[in-house]
Amino acid sequence: KELTDINALADEFLRLSYHGLRAKDKTFNANFKSDFDSELPKLEIVPQDLGRVFLNLINNAFYACAERSKKGQDTDYKPEVNIKTLKTGNAIEVQIQDNGSGIPEEIQEKIFQPFFTTKPTGQGTGLGLSLSYDIVKAHGGNLKVESRLGEGTIFIITLPI
Ligand code: ADP
Ligand code: MG
Repeated sequence: KELTDINALADEFLRLSYHGLRAKDKTFNANFKSDFDSELPKLEIVPQDLGRVFLNLINNAFYACAERSKKGQDTDYKPEVNIKTLKTGNAIEVQIQDNGSGIPEEIQEKIFQPFFTTKPTGQGTGLGLSLSYDIVKAHGGNLKVESRLGEGTIFIITLPI
């Protein structure tokens, strides 16, 4: 474990994810925003592991935006991914929010299961969320989801200080 600046780590993977997706698909387009609490204390974490969690959640968020965009139902749709960090009592929260396709209620309880994916073969392993959940739990934290179909999704990581 290393004493880590969560804001810097989240920012690094947000950019990495965005530029990686853009390099693969020149038509890929989404706005990303970050709202980092600059007073956040550093945390004793495994940065590679937590970085992987951020990358998984951010990639999923961009993908969900791309899905909604491809459906083309709302002509004025602007894909957006937002990352926010904040302190709540003796924990910090990292929120990854998208205005993408959303997750149908009946599958929300399944998404953390290993190998559960709704993506076409070759595009998803279904391991991202189950791995992310395990990593966050191993840090004594928690990972939760709130989602509305057609509106978007927010994943909330809580990590003890
Ligand atoms: P994968 O990305 O390989 O499919 P994950 O474990 O990361 O595997 O995600 C499992 C499933 O959860 C996805 O296939 C998708 O159906 C759903 N999902 C995850 N994140 C989002 C999101 N931000 N918006 C909509 N659906 C999501
Ligand atoms: Mg994934």
